[in-house]
Amino acid sequence: MSQKKNAPLRFNIGFLLEANLGEKRVYQLDYPSVTLDDVMLRPLQGEVIFSRNSRGIYVEGQLITNITTECSRCLTPISVPITIELNDLYYFPPHTAPEGEYSIPVTALLDLSSLVREMGLLTIPMQPLCKPDCLGFCLECGQNLNEGDCGCQDEIGDPRLVALRGLLN
Ligand SMILES: [Zn+2]
Ligand SMILES: [Zn+2]
Repeated sequence: MSQKKNAPLRFNIGFLLEANLGEKRVYQLDYPSVTLDDVMLRPLQGEVIFSRNSRGIYVEGQLITNITTECSRCLTPISVPITIELNDLYYFPPHTAPEGEYSIPVTALLDLSSLVREMGLLTIPMQPLCKPDCLGFCLECGQNLNEGDCGCQDEIGDPRLVALRGLLN
């Protein structure tokens, strides 16, 4: 496996492009962390299988990782466990790829970075939480209520504030 340290998801698959249709190669991945532009995966473990077919290389895989995102209530950075499923065709030669599809450059370096990043982002739960009972921010003063009570709740009886809360909700 010839992989550069700064491109952990790039594979030289020249041999597979020249192989018979149906030929497969399995790679085990195990990295302490992988950064793909704005996405941090830590650790990244799993398996990818490349299969030669008449249109290029079909990629299947299952990667287990934690992706860095933020709590949907209090915006604290958090790490969420996800499983990234890969099922995609990389066309070869590259000029045969339809618009918007992945292809393998003539250098035969198949780079999974874009696909893994995209699938990772798609796999983040819709409303990740730092903890199940995250209190989020106070709607009036903006304090992170996980860090302590701001006192605004004491005025809960004031009808103007109740109305305001209704609007903000
Ligand atoms: Zn939170
Ligand atoms: Zn407050």
